[in-house]
Amino acid sequence: MSEHQLSDLREKLDEINLKLLALLNERASIAKEIGEVKKKQGINKFDPEREQKMLEVLTKENKGPFSDETISYLFKQIFKASLDLQQSDQKEALLVSRKKKNSDTVIDLGGTRVGTGRPHVIAGPCAVESEEQVFAVARALKAQGIEIMRGGAFKPRTSPYDFQGLGLEGLKILRKAADEFGLKVISEIVNPADIEVAGEYIDVIQIGARNMQNFELLKAAGSVNTPVLLKRGLSATLEEFLFAAEYIMSRGNDQVMLCERGIRTYEKWTRNTLDISAVPILKNESHLPVFVDITHSTGRRDILLPCAKAALAAGADGIMLEVHPNPAVALSDAKQQIDIPSFDHFMGELRASGLFEQSKT
Ligand code: PEP
Ligand code: MN
Repeated sequence: MSEHQLSDLREKLDEINLKLLALLNERASIAKEIGEVKKKQGINKFDPEREQKMLEVLTKENKGPFSDETISYLFKQIFKASLDLQQSDQKEALLVSRKKKNSDTVIDLGGTRVGTGRPHVIAGPCAVESEEQVFAVARALKAQGIEIMRGGAFKPRTSPYDFQGLGLEGLKILRKAADEFGLKVISEIVNPADIEVAGEYIDVIQIGARNMQNFELLKAAGSVNTPVLLKRGLSATLEEFLFAAEYIMSRGNDQVMLCERGIRTYEKWTRNTLDISAVPILKNESHLPVFVDITHSTGRRDILLPCAKAALAAGADGIMLEVHPNPAVALSDAKQQIDIPSFDHFMGELRASGLFEQSKT
């Protein structure tokens, strides 16, 4: 073959490449349009039957020199790229996504602003047990300058025979203590029917790990104006976590906080495995404030401080921990709650680390 012939053939290939490029992008634009239509109709974007039919037509018409297998392989790559294109479009459109809203969401709990770059500590007992118990904790929080108290009134317990919480009575105790000490209060709600009334007593509705994919609860929480703290499910991926938050936002409630609380792994020396990498990933992917529950993730009092530091160093907007006046007699999570002197010590150490008061902005 002469030099001349070779360059002629190469020229032809170059032309075909450009035609293929134009055709591939024309095809991609049509696939995107189909994706939009499917989204409106709520149809699944991946349609294996349709792909199979297209491949049958293509291999039937195939006259070579490519084999049917090669043609199938090449077109499957094209189908996959089109599907990825439709899905990345959908991800961009998520309300929780930073691609949708670049600035950090700041949630104003009546003067206590979360997500500003100044971290918060949310502390309090695992469960509300009595007025005396909650008042003792509230007093300790106030003395430390902590603004947000936690306490469970509806407890999602593993065993039906364990203490289930005081219910509405518990919410009333929390409100009373919060008002007395000028605190904001957060408590878990487990039943969609309780979401509306909860707003009368608490400043933030917590949706617990076990309910992260309780879609009716998420929808109910999305239909009120009360801010929501959503915990990551026991075995939820970050994508599933963000989709759960999207359920709330898509119903109109844009005051959502995320909380990493450890995931289940094979590790037994901690109650769950604290996924610190979740913090910078969630902060990058989403504009919502991110908390880390250092108590339920570790289940250990002895490593609370390093885990709190790690969370704040990784960019968390705050931490959550359990504090009880007398953990030994606590009706739930007795082994992991810390008493008030330990909490005071913990706060002193956290402040000394420079990570707590430090502003990130
Ligand atoms: C809690 O915070 O009281 C609780 C039960 O946590 P989680 O849902 O993360 O287990
Ligand atoms: Mn607990």
